[in-house]
Amino acid sequence: MDMRLKNKRYENYLGEQLETRQFTGFMLFVGQKGTGKNDMASYFAKNIVCENGINCQGCAGCALFESGNHPDVISIGGGGRIKIAEIRELNKKLNLKPYQAGHKIAIIKDAHQMTDESANAMLKLLEEPPEKSIIILTAEDKALLPETIVSRSQVVDFGINGAQQEDFGSASDAREILQLSSVAEKFNIIQKYGKDKAMAGNLMDCLETILRQAILAQNRTGKETAGIHEAEALPLLLLLARSRQYLNNNLSIRFVLENLALNIQRSENCPDKWN
Ligand SMILES: [Zn+2]
Repeated sequence: MDMRLKNKRYENYLGEQLETRQFTGFMLFVGQKGTGKNDMASYFAKNIVCENGINCQGCAGCALFESGNHPDVISIGGGGRIKIAEIRELNKKLNLKPYQAGHKIAIIKDAHQMTDESANAMLKLLEEPPEKSIIILTAEDKALLPETIVSRSQVVDFGINGAQQEDFGSASDAREILQLSSVAEKFNIIQKYGKDKAMAGNLMDCLETILRQAILAQNRTGKETAGIHEAEALPLLLLLARSRQYLNNNLSIRFVLENLALNIQRSENCPDKWN
């Protein structure tokens, strides 16, 4: 199991399902942007379809999933309004026998984007869920969904955002970026932020929070927190400010993040080069 599942407080709940292979039929992952709820829904699905149940990367299930064509994983939403035809299609697919995984998994991203008609169709689906189906809805806030849907679901709360919920999502990634010594590992973490400006911004918010907290704590107690010395934190804050400007100037997100990680790296080796 990778870091993403290990570090998070919903780990026990989701991890137990993967271990026992006893799955909750209908879950609602709620949390604002940047909390990792959509990533986790995909990651969870991948662990279900993996023939070895551990996201092994070596089996046919993992390979099919990676290709985006696993017939047992149906993903909709994430791009504006979710229309009733999409829910009907989903229903049809869920009613087919699992092809390979033993379960059919549906992920409905941004479920709050369902039209009223779609939500009604979803409700019907939940009232008579197809056998062996696992349905995961994600939404920024459960209050945006009809109570009839929420009351039927197992709500898994991913929190407000990375900065406020320090132990998961972007915040734990930010911590790792600051603490890992290997550039390759840092780049690995950064990869998933490279496509989305909002997510990259969120990661930077988290980095900034950690750095500011480190400075405050050090001033208060005279001790380092998170292994960061005030002398290191200040130039990193400046670097962050510069990186935000680069983002606003529409430089490639990945380039900006990699540059940031490289400079964090450099600062460890030769602190004098800062400023
Ligand atoms: Zn596998």
